[in-house]
Amino acid sequence: MNQVLGVIGSPISHSLSPVMHEAAYEELQLNCSYHAFHVESTQLKSAVEGVRSLGLKGINVTIPHKVDVIQYLDHIDPLAEEIGAVNTIVNDQGVLKGYNTDGDGYVYALLQRIGKTLHDKRILIVGAGGAAKGVALCLSKYGVKKMTITNRTSSKAEDLAVICSQYSDTDYLSLGMAQAELAKFDIMINTTSIGMAPNFDQMPLSLENLRKGAFVSDLIYNPYKTKLLIEAENKGSGIMNGVDMFVHQGALAFKKWFNKEAPVQIMKNSVIKHLGGSI
Ligand code: NAP
Repeated sequence: MNQVLGVIGSPISHSLSPVMHEAAYEELQLNCSYHAFHVESTQLKSAVEGVRSLGLKGINVTIPHKVDVIQYLDHIDPLAEEIGAVNTIVNDQGVLKGYNTDGDGYVYALLQRIGKTLHDKRILIVGAGGAAKGVALCLSKYGVKKMTITNRTSSKAEDLAVICSQYSDTDYLSLGMAQAELAKFDIMINTTSIGMAPNFDQMPLSLENLRKGAFVSDLIYNPYKTKLLIEAENKGSGIMNGVDMFVHQGALAFKKWFNKEAPVQIMKNSVIKHLGGSI
């Protein structure tokens, strides 16, 4: 029997999750299909009940439901609980279990790209929203040398730094100070939405003080290369856009549903092809 999976969110029509997961099913010849479901906040509870009653194998959850969905689940994984958001639900014979694969997906992606340990790296995280929380928490749990968080709303950077400092040396800086002290960091990660389409000409901060050889990463993948990444590349930096994180969070969700490794490269190729990037 065909097993049904999907993603719920609003808006959802531009989601690349169906393309990516269906590529994996085709590669592994799994008799499954993956659909994008438009779900408004007022329908969230009934949509989650529908996962159980219709017997969907699992779903991903995206904006704006990652936090609110928690109250409708039977079991929350400790990491998802700590992050305070769920992006993956497993339907285990009617028991709905919530996980968060965003942060670990990012750490896997960064490790693969950098090709070595992060334990000796000083990392600047720009932003303190939902995505930043997963990324910062998982990086601090992995164990980095030093992490600094900066954000337009300083209080949110401070709150996130307090949580992360349980695991790694973490502090926070104002955006102005972070920009002035950019030369101190080995890796800079933009987790804000600044630079996302249609605001192609915006950057979260100036790279004037970026140190030679620093690595710059952006969670955004639309545009494929943000202004931040273009400028960093022009300065000779290694760069990573949001595709790798997106693919790895999807691969980790796949593993939770099917208890087997996902065909990561096939998934990545499908996403890049869809975005019109180069493989
Ligand atoms: P969010 O919770 O709304 O957080 C937005 C962040 O951006 C906050 O830190 C916010 O600062 C900052 N920000 C927004 N507009 C700003 C502006 N004009 N000036 C200064 N700061 C601004 O959103 P999110 O869910 O974390 O998503 C953030 C980005 O990550 C989005 O572009 C999203 O597409 C991307 N993302 C990518 C992946 C992936 O798989 N690649 C996964 C998740 C998210 P304040 O706190 O001051 O408001």
